Amino acid sequence: MNFEYDLKNNVLCIDENQLHARGIENNEVGICSSCGANLLSISYHAFNEDLIIVSKCGNCGLIYANIYDYNWAWLDEAVISHFSDDICNNDAKCNSIECGSDDKINEKLQSLKNIPMKQLITIFSSAEITAIFARVKGDECVRQYLYNARKKYDKFEDVFGIAIDV
Ligand SMILES: [Zn+2]
Repeated sequence: MNFEYDLKNNVLCIDENQLHARGIENNEVGICSSCGANLLSISYHAFNEDLIIVSKCGNCGLIYANIYDYNWAWLDEAVISHFSDDICNNDAKCNSIECGSDDKINEKLQSLKNIPMKQLITIFSSAEITAIFARVKGDECVRQYLYNARKKYDKFEDVFGIAIDV
C-alpha cells in the first residue's frame, strides 16, 4: 500500500483512496520507532474495517500511519514518506508549473523530486521538507523551517552528494 498524507486538509491517501479525517485529535499515541520520542496523533481515519491513526513524531518529524482493526487491536505501522501541504492536489499544481514559462522553477522542482524521500527524511524534518518544496513552487512557506533546512544543506551534500539550492 502506498501512503500519502495531506497535512493541510488532513486527508490520508492510500493508493487511490482518499480518506478524510473522522476526527482530529492530538493525543500521545506511542513512541517513534526512529528516535524514541512521543508520537502525537494528528487525525483519525476509517478504511474498510480498519481504523488508522496518523501521528507525527514531536522530535524528528516523521509521520506514521498506525493501523488497527475495529477492536483497536494493532495491525501495522507505516511511515508516510510522501506528505505535503496539499498532496492530493499535487499533480494539478505540478502540471500548472510545468505549463508555465519559468523553466528554472521547473528544473529545480524536478531535481528536488528526483531526490529519494528516504534521503530527505534522514536529514530534514517533514516541516522543513514541506518548506523546501513550497519555496521552489513559489508557494508560501514557514520561514523558520526553510531557515532551519538551509542550515542542513551542507550536511545533506556531505552525506548524499547532492547539493540543494533553494
Ligand atoms: Zn522521531
